[in-house]
Amino acid sequence: MRWTRWIGVSLICGLALACPAPRAEAQVIKAGPASCPAVALTYDLCPVRTASGFDRELVEFLIEHKVPATFFMSGRWMTKHEAEVKQLLAVPFFEIGTHGDVHAHLPMHDVEEQQQEIMAPVRFLKAKYGRPANLFRPPYGEYNDETVEAVKALGLRFILWNIESGDPDPTLSAEAILTRVQKRLKPGSVIVLHANGKGKHTREVTEALAGTLLADKGLTAMTVSDLLRCNQSTAPPKP
Ligand SMILES: [Zn+2]
Repeated sequence: MRWTRWIGVSLICGLALACPAPRAEAQVIKAGPASCPAVALTYDLCPVRTASGFDRELVEFLIEHKVPATFFMSGRWMTKHEAEVKQLLAVPFFEIGTHGDVHAHLPMHDVEEQQQEIMAPVRFLKAKYGRPANLFRPPYGEYNDETVEAVKALGLRFILWNIESGDPDPTLSAEAILTRVQKRLKPGSVIVLHANGKGKHTREVTEALAGTLLADKGLTAMTVSDLLRCNQSTAPPKP
């Protein structure tokens, strides 16, 4: 996801010029149940041209503190980060989803091209690593009715978010990102962040959330799939 692009799409949708129909919208998941005292920390792995493309310190923090997290990997990122893919797949409390093959603007493509963009990394994960991945997040958060229908037909779950951290925006301080997230934080929230090194403050923000901010609101972190099947009776005890 690229923050500035998403703003543009949101504005377009806000003006009702290019919004998916309500029927399609119903299949797009933006949050878990409000009855669940947990949130999902999600990290997109969009391709990057410069830098390492991997926030190693962030991932090490999550592993060290056993923080459940969900990563949405793009195909292009995976082909350049074999060791990192293996590292993420090996962590039992991490969940893996996909994020397009070349990080295309899906609504600019026809149905067949969209299916190819969506399925290529899913097939790659299965063929190379033997891992299924049924969560899908569209690049830039962009989609149309065809995207929603394609994701459903391919047997995947369409995962967006309801809290946009804005972490790739270089003008935002860690404090500004945390203020934005805290204001929207509630049971069932899905927070979008990035693990591809684009977020200067992503680790700091994650440390603050996992440290005390979630606990202060009676919330814990869960993977997306756990959040979606969570209710009060299955949720872990409050910290
Ligand atoms: Zn992305």
